[in-house]
Amino acid sequence: MTTPLAIITGGAQGIGLATVELLLQEGWRVAALDRDPEAVAELDEAYPEAPLLAMVVDVSDELQVKEAFQHLLAWQQENHKTTGLDLLVNNAGIADPECGPIEHLSLTDWRRWQESHLTGAFLCTRAAVPGLRERHGAIVNIASTRALQSEPHCESYAAAKGGLLSMTHALAISLGPEIRVNAICPGWIETGPWQKSRTRTAPEPRDIDRTQHPVGRIGEPSDVAATIQFLASDRAGFITGQQITVDGGMTRKMIYAD
Ligand code: NAD
Repeated sequence: MTTPLAIITGGAQGIGLATVELLLQEGWRVAALDRDPEAVAELDEAYPEAPLLAMVVDVSDELQVKEAFQHLLAWQQENHKTTGLDLLVNNAGIADPECGPIEHLSLTDWRRWQESHLTGAFLCTRAAVPGLRERHGAIVNIASTRALQSEPHCESYAAAKGGLLSMTHALAISLGPEIRVNAICPGWIETGPWQKSRTRTAPEPRDIDRTQHPVGRIGEPSDVAATIQFLASDRAGFITGQQITVDGGMTRKMIYAD
């Protein structure tokens, strides 16, 4: 059986890094694309023997994405004598949802969120489709519960994530039956321990942070990684065009004031 290949964008920290690590443990070959050179270097050093290609790439840059996919294809052909792709995870993007009051939001800042989440997913998907078709692979887009509900001053983030959800069902219809396309809406996922060493933090959750979640805890990157792994597997072979919320039940809870 051919070793499966996954591309994880934003794969050097946070949810992306947890996904890279899970898939490597599960015997996948993995390409991690991330714009942070320091984080990419640390990932590379952590897995010297693994079938891992860690690349510094800004996914919102058309040329960088094109060159990264060319480099990946050459790596596949030279080292593993194969082509094709089994999974693309569009995870990269500015994870901070707060863009400030709309009256003060500059066009440049508005575009930063759209470019990193939405344009990045478009460019990587376009580049990945031939390889995914070849292997009947899957795409998983990482959206957010903030595509569905809001706190104040998150317009650019919410719009980008809402766009990702719409792109998910559009792609599922365009790319089936060869390629399945789904989205995950994570809720509050604690990624402090999954940052590069210079910015890594230990979580200090308050009781209220835990107890406001119906499952009694904050999310971890592994919660999302496990869902990605499921959506990429044959067990999810009848699921496409869907969005799965991974939020410990937060978006199912009534929040009327006492
Ligand atoms: P993170 O900041 O820990 O990791 C994101 C990684 O993406 C970083 O390594 C960063 O360098 C990289 N990145 C950002 N922009 C990029 C670009 N243009 N090109 C390439 N790499 C880029 O964030 P995270 O919390 O792990 O978030 C991952 C995804 O999950 C994001 O799309 C985020 O919006 C989404 N999400 C996170 C949460 C959460 O609570 N952590 C909740 C909902 C959705």
